[in-house]
Amino acid sequence: APVVLRVENLRTEFGTDQGPVTSVDEVSFSLAAGETLCLVGESGSGKSVTALSIMGLLADNGRVVSGSVVFEDEDLVRLPENRLREIRGNSIAMIFQEPMTSLNPVLTIGDQLAESMILHLGLTKAQARQRVIELLDKVGIPRAPEVVDDYPHRLSGGMRQRAMIAMALSCEPKLIIADEPTTALDVTIQAQILKLMRDLSAETGTAMIFITHDLGVVAEMADRVAVMYAGQVVEQADVYTLFDEPKHPYTIALLRSIPHLSTDERLASISGSVPSLLYMPTGCRFHERCPQAMDRCVGERPELLPIAGDHDVRCWLYDEAAQPQSSGAAVPA
Ligand code: SF4
Ligand code: MG
Repeated sequence: APVVLRVENLRTEFGTDQGPVTSVDEVSFSLAAGETLCLVGESGSGKSVTALSIMGLLADNGRVVSGSVVFEDEDLVRLPENRLREIRGNSIAMIFQEPMTSLNPVLTIGDQLAESMILHLGLTKAQARQRVIELLDKVGIPRAPEVVDDYPHRLSGGMRQRAMIAMALSCEPKLIIADEPTTALDVTIQAQILKLMRDLSAETGTAMIFITHDLGVVAEMADRVAVMYAGQVVEQADVYTLFDEPKHPYTIALLRSIPHLSTDERLASISGSVPSLLYMPTGCRFHERCPQAMDRCVGERPELLPIAGDHDVRCWLYDEAAQPQSSGAAVPA
């Protein structure tokens, strides 16, 4: 399948009272049509900032300082705001955790879904309304012809999230970025929504970046997985390889902690916590928590290198196995 999105060496900084902090550093991945990539990691690992950087939706004090985000031959990092807005309305859609913040409370569900279809697909009001009803029906909202005239507060959390998914689909996007879309929902509703998203992506060929801290969700959704730690991707592979043959000590610890993950973003089985962005450890950013840390891990920064096919790891343990890229040697931190 053709590549839809290629993120290369993305680096995002935020200005703070104590100086600039780097939230996302050297993040690279690509995504093919119809593929779902899960970004997984603890809170503060840079997952959401990666998504917002791709979309050009960073807060005012944030900016992408280097790298590129190539979506269908355009580098989103270098586009003017009006072109970006066009792409966000047309080809890339985003679904957030709390749909109430993304739905406009004073517009009916029908009016807000129709708005983008009228704007971007050139439908008439009547055509758009008909299409909204079809979409609501498709995402499993009962009584769609009535719900179309309801305001968001009339819907349950699960129904609102379905309406958000309908809204994301309304422009027939090439890429959907979903940031913890089911985290606020109860387990049964969550399972229904995940299945819905999986089915829709398979049916429409829409590529998806799915952000979660929950490895159970990763197992349900992912074709490929990128594990993030302290602003960097530390391992990426197809979902089977990642679960069956994890290589990075952090990934291994994450997998051991699965039962804890759905209730608590902190990892019960790994001592310590994600380092503060202001005081990033030297060398490998995981070295203070890593059970296998060696001397060189403290002073030398490992790069993300392929160890086999599509499997990349950022860890000195695999230095020998790695197939060096042109960017080559490690850089002292
Ligand atoms: Fe652990 Fe060293 Fe690998 Fe970092 S580079 S994960 S500290 S073994
Ligand atoms: Mg987040």
